[in-house]
Amino acid sequence: MLWVLGVVWFVACGPQLSPEPKPEPKPDKPNTEQGGGSTDTEDGEESSESYVVILSMDAFRYDLAEMYDTPTLDSIARVGVYSEIMPCFPSNTFPNHYSMATGLYPDHHGIVNNTFFDETTYKTYSISDKEATSNANFYKGEPIWNTVERQGLTAHVYGWVGIDAAVNGCKPTVAMSYDYRLSQRQLADKVIGAMCREDVEEIPNLVMWYFDEPDAVEHDYSPTSEQTRRVVEEIDDVLAYFMRQMRNSPVYDDINFIFTSDHGMVELDPDKYFNVYSLIPDRIQYYYNSNPVTLKPRNLAETQEIYEILKAHESEGHYRVWLREDMPEELHYGTYKTRIYPIVLLADTGWKVVYNKNANGGRPTEHYSNHGYNPYDREMHMVFYGCGPAFKSGYTHDRVFQNLNDHLIISHILGIEPANPNDCTWEDVEGLFRVE
Ligand SMILES: [Zn+2]
Repeated sequence: MLWVLGVVWFVACGPQLSPEPKPEPKPDKPNTEQGGGSTDTEDGEESSESYVVILSMDAFRYDLAEMYDTPTLDSIARVGVYSEIMPCFPSNTFPNHYSMATGLYPDHHGIVNNTFFDETTYKTYSISDKEATSNANFYKGEPIWNTVERQGLTAHVYGWVGIDAAVNGCKPTVAMSYDYRLSQRQLADKVIGAMCREDVEEIPNLVMWYFDEPDAVEHDYSPTSEQTRRVVEEIDDVLAYFMRQMRNSPVYDDINFIFTSDHGMVELDPDKYFNVYSLIPDRIQYYYNSNPVTLKPRNLAETQEIYEILKAHESEGHYRVWLREDMPEELHYGTYKTRIYPIVLLADTGWKVVYNKNANGGRPTEHYSNHGYNPYDREMHMVFYGCGPAFKSGYTHDRVFQNLNDHLIISHILGIEPANPNDCTWEDVEGLFRVE
């Protein structure tokens, strides 16, 4: 059997702010003070009436549901809200999932890319290294599951980035590491099992879960491929099953569902390739060859000179280059100096730029697709669907907001204080909610 990684933690990270004011009952729901459907916990405190179940579907680009047959997601948009949203920079999986959890930009929460080297601890963070992903020292800020449990509610997390580590010494009530062997249907069954318990007191207020598709199929075949169509439609089928089963939950009417993603995807072209190696041969000691490409000169005194050489070839190479300290403000990147190399080079969306000794090293193959590009480019945008008592009905949002606001959205629905500090913007998401 494959159900082996369900690591369940029961640790003493419960309420630390006391006394924490109880969430105000929502006027359009039963008034719990008068016993309308409320439940009591063991210590006599009233439980919250609100629930959030949030699924991230990796690289679910903004237009996939328009291109393919997705009746379940379409119906969620009809009864709830839809918004095109954008990632944080860099538009990669780990920085963005941890931004969604913490409400912070990658520069502020420390997971500055899928791989990076920390110059203070001499340790490398890498998404494929369990020892690194479990090391709490890499993670700054407060992930929402800890924010929730610190204020007396419960959270279950199934495979979300950051869940391997006990951030600030805490893990939520259920903390399951990502397990690629579990099918989407098996993951759905875990969430259904948690939310459909007969004992309402045992139902978590927050569930976060994660699908690694359609990212994988898009990388290999492109977002517009037949293979991606099939995977997207299979996801929608799983969501149909999921929503049907969730009707058996005793708290179904109080659940707010969110279906969203971490970033978009763009198909590359083998001809849109530029290798900067010959411009600065052997002058780089360390480099990271993805989006963005980051470089650490062998001789740091040459940083400015190397930057100027690269700068002179920007238009020819189809990239932008910056000194780490001079990144454009809207990217919110470059202040984490011990984790980001001094030169940052970002390929134009759809281009592949590398620092590679091999003249053709890293050239993309036909249909290969990628992300990590400028989050303001539409190919990097993705979906946000929400439905449930907190959300408006049949509403399409009037602005593209950043996914780090998920932290604030969840806090608002559950009636708790978001982590302090956070980088969320209430005005960007206020319009999603039903006006009381
Ligand atoms: Zn991703």
